[in-house]
Amino acid sequence: MHRFFIPPNYLNGLQVTFPGDVSYQITHVLRLGNGDQVGVLDNSGLLYHVRLQGGAPGSSLTGEIIEKKAVSSEPDVHLTLYFGLTSREKVEWILQKGTEIGVSAFCPFISARTLVQSPELTPKRQARWVRIIREAAEQSGRGRLPALNPATSLLEALSEAARSFRLNLMAWEESANNSASLESALKGQSVDALSLFVGPEGGFSEEEVNQAVAAGFQVVSLGARILRMETAAIIFPALVLYQLGQLS
Ligand code: SAH
Repeated sequence: MHRFFIPPNYLNGLQVTFPGDVSYQITHVLRLGNGDQVGVLDNSGLLYHVRLQGGAPGSSLTGEIIEKKAVSSEPDVHLTLYFGLTSREKVEWILQKGTEIGVSAFCPFISARTLVQSPELTPKRQARWVRIIREAAEQSGRGRLPALNPATSLLEALSEAARSFRLNLMAWEESANNSASLESALKGQSVDALSLFVGPEGGFSEEEVNQAVAAGFQVVSLGARILRMETAAIIFPALVLYQLGQLS
């Protein structure tokens, strides 16, 4: 069954009115119509089974809710992935794959060695990135839409994470030989939210790692091989969710 996130105000009692872009997708791309069923998500963790209704030509597509249930696929652990702002293609890959894996929020940052040094996003690009997250969430069966936060400086990101989470992990390839394993960082932890930091192509500078440690972060290794930042940004949340028993 095809699933669509729509804003909650489009649901009214048992009646659903589909926004224009979703209507277009349902009727023109998927060629569904009167009597067909789709899944509707209102970002509350609920999934509604909706039977489409045939309307007058030109009027909004509507449907009737025939069943409602909780989505069971959301991880119990809220992961916020901070990553160095990079090329459009890599950011899009990170947003799409991270959503599939179970990341709950994405926060790009700018550090000394990030490829992109301006946090400004055009409204068009912002809208495209939000759409990529939404489509990945629909395709992978998420019950809630991951958030996309505006880019900040690494320093701001570090202090925001330190304020928000009890556990903050920074992936640093040079930590491999000082026994900073992910396993030991997560052992015995019963957290319901944590942050993960992945550096840019050029990596974190030693000064940046020291700032993170001073803010109470744990520095962890993702193995003896050096991963590209977009690989690290996918592997890191996957390993953390696995270690916390969230991929079973
Ligand atoms: N500074 C390196 C590579 C940076 S890799 C160089 O230029 O040679 C980009 C980011 O991926 C790093 O900042 C780190 O956060 C993460 N990363 C890659 N491989 C890693 C590993 N083996 N352990 C921990 N983090 C890793």
